[in-house]
Amino acid sequence: MAVRTGQSTAVVTYDDGPEPDGTDRVLTALASHAARATFFILVSRARRYPGLLREVVAAGHEIALHGLDHRRLTSFPAAEVRRRSADGRAELEDLTGQRVRWMRPPYGAQTLSTSLAIQRAGLTPVLWGPSSWDWKPITQEARLARVRETASAGSILLCHDGFADARDAVDDGPAPALDRGELTARILDVYASYGLLARSLGEAIGEGSAIREAHFRR
Ligand SMILES: [Zn+2]
Repeated sequence: MAVRTGQSTAVVTYDDGPEPDGTDRVLTALASHAARATFFILVSRARRYPGLLREVVAAGHEIALHGLDHRRLTSFPAAEVRRRSADGRAELEDLTGQRVRWMRPPYGAQTLSTSLAIQRAGLTPVLWGPSSWDWKPITQEARLARVRETASAGSILLCHDGFADARDAVDDGPAPALDRGELTARILDVYASYGLLARSLGEAIGEGSAIREAHFRR
C-alpha cells in the first residue's frame, strides 16, 4: 500500500506501542527532525501506559488502531473482528480525543472477511510498503541499507516503537535489542537526504490519494 502524492512526502508509521524506552525515544527523534508519524496503538498497552499515549498525541502525531491486543484477526469470526475493531476505536478515541480512521491488523493478517468487518466498524484497513526490519535481529546498518533502497515519495514505512508480548496475548519470542530512537533519527536523515518529508498517513492522504491493492494473508 502507498499514497499517490505529488509532494516529497513519505509516510512513517509505528506499531506495537506505546512502550517505555521505545515510544519516548522515537518521539524525541521525530521532534528533532520536525517529522510527524502515524502510531498504530495496541489498546492493551494504551491502558498500561496512558501517559506515553498522551505524549504521542501532544506531539501532534496521528493515532490509529492496531488492535485490542496483538492476536491475529484471522483467528476470530467476522462478528468478533467487527466488535474488537469498534471497541478498540471507541476506547482510543476516548483516551486521546482524536478521531481514529485507520486500523492495521496485527501481522498484516487479513482476509476479505476481516477487511470488511474492520470497515463496518468505521475504520479503513492499512498495511504498509517498505519495512525498516526493526523486528528482525539484524544490525542498524542492515536496516538502514534497506531503508535507503526502498525510500520513495508516497511510500508507507513500517517501524515499531514497541514489541508485543504476553501482555498483548501473543508470544513472538524475545524483543530485538535496538535503540528505536537512534534508528528513527537515522531513517529521517536518509529521508532528508532524499528530499523526503516524513508525515502521518492522514496528512499525506490529505494532499494525495490512497493507492490500494487487494492483499490478503492469514
Ligand atoms: Zn504489530
